[in-house]
Amino acid sequence: MTTVVDLPLLPLGRGVDLGSERGVECPGDLPSPSDPSLVARALAAKEALGSRVFVLGHHYQRDEVIQFADVTGDSFKLAREAAARPDAEYIVFCGVHFMAESADILTADSQKVVLPDLAAGCSMADMARLRQVEDTWAALEAAGLADEVVPVTYMNSSADIKAFCGKHGGAVCTSSNAETALEWAFAQGSKVLFLPDQHLGRNTAVLKMGMSLEDCVVWDPHRPGGGLTPEELAGARMILWKGHCSVHGRFSAETIPQLRADVPGVQVIVHPECTHEVVLAADLVGSTEFIIQTIEAAPAGSAWAVGTELNLVKRLASEHPDKRIVFLDKTVCYCSTMNRIDLPHFVWAMESLVDGVVVNQIEVDAETEKWAKVALDRMLALPGKTHKD
Ligand code: SF4
Repeated sequence: MTTVVDLPLLPLGRGVDLGSERGVECPGDLPSPSDPSLVARALAAKEALGSRVFVLGHHYQRDEVIQFADVTGDSFKLAREAAARPDAEYIVFCGVHFMAESADILTADSQKVVLPDLAAGCSMADMARLRQVEDTWAALEAAGLADEVVPVTYMNSSADIKAFCGKHGGAVCTSSNAETALEWAFAQGSKVLFLPDQHLGRNTAVLKMGMSLEDCVVWDPHRPGGGLTPEELAGARMILWKGHCSVHGRFSAETIPQLRADVPGVQVIVHPECTHEVVLAADLVGSTEFIIQTIEAAPAGSAWAVGTELNLVKRLASEHPDKRIVFLDKTVCYCSTMNRIDLPHFVWAMESLVDGVVVNQIEVDAETEKWAKVALDRMLALPGKTHKD
């Protein structure tokens, strides 16, 4: 097998690469970030567009932007909300690229999905490129294993990876239904190729499905044969793609004992994109929606250390002044790509729509959309659990 190098450098601000999750320039004249009239301009544009526009805001967005969202949520909830608004001509997605792609897949062809800044990609989604995954599949075929492998991709992946899974008998999952999705996958085959987040895959396999760490191997797309021996590959049940979230992957289990000493009675709640060590050291683990609901339902006076994106943790702290809510790790910062969506980009996108110009439209091609929808529909058909990311 040859190792495919499919990551040509594309410095920010130079060139446009809509086929990838990487940052690209945002053309057009942006309002100055210091312009004091931005809030009024955003309100005026929203009013002028009325029901023609529906604004979606991911929980990790800045306050300055999320105040204009018609609905807030995780990536899957937002995609479903977009699909439930067939009358909206424009869907303005304040989130990242793969989320806008999912919204485009799940909405009518006539609806236009706009991402205010095309540089709002996702480093995790970027870690699994289609050519790399195809190369991996070829290696699994050469090893005589592909027939027993079911590919499952996390919602946080590009549309072409979702389509790959659809084409090869696999499905999409979210952080809420990963266990159900894996149960389904292991009913189809004896091994799972889990993309692109190794931590969600490992945490679900070991903590929810009773597998051992030895059942899991990590496939490194930058090394021949994934960096695995034929025996390791043949013996594995979970083949985890070597990808991670550059925000959640930075939390460290080492901070937790000191935190418990400093904040008596604190409960540590983290997202399953955190490393296995962090999840083991935490009290509770769950999706973004799970974290929000748990803290909302907690009694006044309770104390929480939260391991997820900082914008959300700060918002939770300000919305629940009766509870003590702290960020799990001072060395972790905002999701830089989520933060690309700021008020100047939002105002520019909205005012352009008022002028009849659709900027930064996210369009998934018909063939990719068809197969990605197959994988998404398999997830939607899963029994029981809610589908939250
Ligand atoms: S928080 Fe992590 S997974 Fe979510 S958009 Fe940012 S880099 Fe991607």
